[in-house]
Amino acid sequence: MTSPKIAIPTLAETGEATEEEVINKVAKARQAYSSWHRLSYRARANHLLEVRRKLIKNLDEIVDLIVEETGKVSTEAIVNEILVTCELMSYYARRGEGFLRTQRVPVGIAIHKWAEVRYQPLGVVAVISPWNYPFVLTMGPVATALFAGNTVVLKPSEVTPRVGVAIGRLFASMDEFADIVQVVTGGGKVGQALITQPVDKIAFTGSVQTGKSVMKAAADNLTPVLLELGGKDAMIVLADADLDRAAAGAVWGAFTNCGQTCMAVERVYVLEDVYEPFLNKVVEITNKVREGQGDSADIGALTYERQYDIVQHQLEDALQTGAKVLAGGNSMRVGTRKSISPTVLVEVSPDTEMMQQETFGPLLPITKVSNVEEAIQLANQSSFGLSASVWGKNKKTIQQVVYELKAGSVSVNDVMISYAIPSLPFGGVGASGFGRTHGREGLLEFCAVKAVAHDWLGLKREPHWLPLPRWLGKTAKLYLKARYG
Ligand code: NAD
Repeated sequence: MTSPKIAIPTLAETGEATEEEVINKVAKARQAYSSWHRLSYRARANHLLEVRRKLIKNLDEIVDLIVEETGKVSTEAIVNEILVTCELMSYYARRGEGFLRTQRVPVGIAIHKWAEVRYQPLGVVAVISPWNYPFVLTMGPVATALFAGNTVVLKPSEVTPRVGVAIGRLFASMDEFADIVQVVTGGGKVGQALITQPVDKIAFTGSVQTGKSVMKAAADNLTPVLLELGGKDAMIVLADADLDRAAAGAVWGAFTNCGQTCMAVERVYVLEDVYEPFLNKVVEITNKVREGQGDSADIGALTYERQYDIVQHQLEDALQTGAKVLAGGNSMRVGTRKSISPTVLVEVSPDTEMMQQETFGPLLPITKVSNVEEAIQLANQSSFGLSASVWGKNKKTIQQVVYELKAGSVSVNDVMISYAIPSLPFGGVGASGFGRTHGREGLLEFCAVKAVAHDWLGLKREPHWLPLPRWLGKTAKLYLKARYG
């Protein structure tokens, strides 16, 4: 019997891994693969559900660790990270076997054959994760890769390495299959060392800039990559929207996790008919948001100083070019961290960094538009395309907006909820990356698709083999004319 508790890692245990350590961990994961991938889906799922039970036995300590490393409030860690992860694991435990079941497929003209599509594991998957949701954005791809039968080498963000090591320990503390998740800690150099190893897939979540380096490095070994990158998500408020709900949604979507969410609301476009009342409601709710620590706070702080500098720079840049602050806008200290209060802005010029680049902080620029077409056009005026939201009642208009928006996911009269629905695939278009996590597509992302054709008739030779029979060309021609002419 293993102990129900894992040892919570200290900072001293998260040093920069050497290249040799990275090579050894990849080799260990490869060795673990030889037995893990041979298990039935049910056996793998049962093991992963045991790991989940272990997570719950360590829930308080892991939540405290997430809070300590990120500066978010504990409710955010519990709901947005642990709960979402556990639901995803339930979903794959229940449905994954069906998704990976071998499929018989039609054979077309080859009636003396039968054919099947198989979904097999890839091998060793390198998971590289960011700091903003260090649990769900790490455990999500790790668990999914494992459900599909792969083993994993994980490199968590250097900003939140202890959460990554704790995830590794949940697996390592099991009696069986203790080596299916290997963890290497450190910064970009360690990430680079990992992706240049002979791994079978790289699942990367992080910035566009790093995503590009990852893809370039992966090209050398032709390693397939899944890239979950940044966003600049737009929210469109139509004239018939429920303004109370839309305003509350905008405030949560922009400020939860102190705005450090890839699919946070970063731009709002509001139809002019409802602009003023919407704005007033957003400001009113924003003024009530409590930033701080502990149970009395609604949101925590910016996680680290680099993020504070980016957000502060974007704010100053917008103010210099005529933007107006209607709420917030103040720098503050939250415990040991520097942060900025939830900030609502108007008249932000479309060519400012705040409207062009990802902010990843608590800034909410709101823009008035004269019609739906203008809202769609402005929303799509971004290189990013992670997610978006539309708020209104007219079904036809909503369908039009959903169709036209350049985004991997769209929430209707809601925000960011698509991520919490495990059956919905998550991922972006454009600079937000490609590939999907969650849903059937997310599990298949970690599989090799193998096409298998079987002969059942057993002819001594096929008609199209050599030497070619004279009648074949003529007969095929007659067939083409009769069938497709
Ligand atoms: P980042 O790109 O700086 O780092 C991400 C990870 O990559 C870290 O573990 C880092 O150590 C590693 N890394 C850095 N250089 C590397 C290299 N050359 N080779 C390999 N690995 C390397 O991103 P971040 O600041 O940690 O995270 C914030 C970014 O992540 C934001 O842009 C945010 O939008 C994005 N993000 C995207 C999603 C999504 O699902 N689409 C989710 C969360 C965050």
